[in-house]
Amino acid sequence: MLSVVPQREVIALWAKWYEVRGTLAAYDWFRPKAERKLWPRFVWKDFVPQKYSFTTWQDVKGRLETKATKDMLGYMDMDQNCPLCKSNIEPAYHHFLKCNKTREVWTAIKGWLGLRVTINTIPSAIKWMTKKKASVVIRKTRRLALMTVVSLTWRTQNSLVHEGTSFEPKHIIFEVKKLAYATLYTIYPHDYVQMYLGV
Ligand SMILES: [Zn+2]
Repeated sequence: MLSVVPQREVIALWAKWYEVRGTLAAYDWFRPKAERKLWPRFVWKDFVPQKYSFTTWQDVKGRLETKATKDMLGYMDMDQNCPLCKSNIEPAYHHFLKCNKTREVWTAIKGWLGLRVTINTIPSAIKWMTKKKASVVIRKTRRLALMTVVSLTWRTQNSLVHEGTSFEPKHIIFEVKKLAYATLYTIYPHDYVQMYLGV
């Protein structure tokens, strides 16, 4: 469907839907139902709320990085530092996922889930996670955590840039864990989840 619609129409439609009906309708239209590739299989899962998975989807489709860099450039007109870590950087090489502040979130979450890989891009993290064997609880939690970190980091950066709010890694870490437990508890017995994730 996407391939037969000119790009500017896609962008206009997407913007309209997003404004009027929110992410659900937009995601539904963009979701390539027939596609059997790694990314959609990883991203669209019933147990991952769509408001979180949508950000990862935008990233793997290359839509997020452009916007993130643009936002950062706009911000840096006033202040030549990264809005999150305050270091003086070249925004094109400072994707929000690689910023030191975001890395604090990754480090805590990776430690919690026994991950040793360095997360530089979302597609590489997805590839790595789908290859790595682990219990079903851990696999589901890694998937969920990856998408909630991306989404919450992205939103927090946005509100920092546009509304001047603060970026607190510990708040994001707390939210990611809270959502993981809440979700896993709806699928598996509490004891079973705690056996893998701790209490
Ligand atoms: Zn930074």
